[in-house]
Amino acid sequence: MNEDLHQGIKSNKQYNPQMHSAEHILNQTMVRMFNCGRSFSNHIEKKKSKCDYHFDRNLTEEEIELLNKKVNEVIQQNLIVKEEYYSKDEALKMFNLSRLPEDAGDKVRVIKIGDYDACPCSGLHVTYTKEIGSFKIISTDFNEGVLRVRFKLHDEKV
Ligand SMILES: [Zn+2]
Repeated sequence: MNEDLHQGIKSNKQYNPQMHSAEHILNQTMVRMFNCGRSFSNHIEKKKSKCDYHFDRNLTEEEIELLNKKVNEVIQQNLIVKEEYYSKDEALKMFNLSRLPEDAGDKVRVIKIGDYDACPCSGLHVTYTKEIGSFKIISTDFNEGVLRVRFKLHDEKV
């Protein structure tokens, strides 16, 4: 693990690796289900987290259930979470880097969750998706083009 890379996030945000990894999976699932972008703003905490998406309406109960189901299916596959490094030029061809911190350096760290998701990120993650536990959406609301999804995790280990 590259400690320098992680230092900023550790000190600035109280990231919880399980929650943050769930955020990656939720984002990819939102993109696949609704063809929207990944969350443009989020607040990740151990107890509960929220992600905001540019959207055109609130989600229905059925959609929330499906989201829960799909995210948990990915978690249950126990996919390996890996980091790979790309040059900025390579990464620019594959990803939208607008949310990358200015001081990210020449190499871009990309987090891959099995073949399900790949996203540039300097945060802390689990090694296998089952470490996340179970995912549950608490609520959603829609306001002025922003869909907010609140969620929590349960540790399923006994
Ligand atoms: Zn991340």
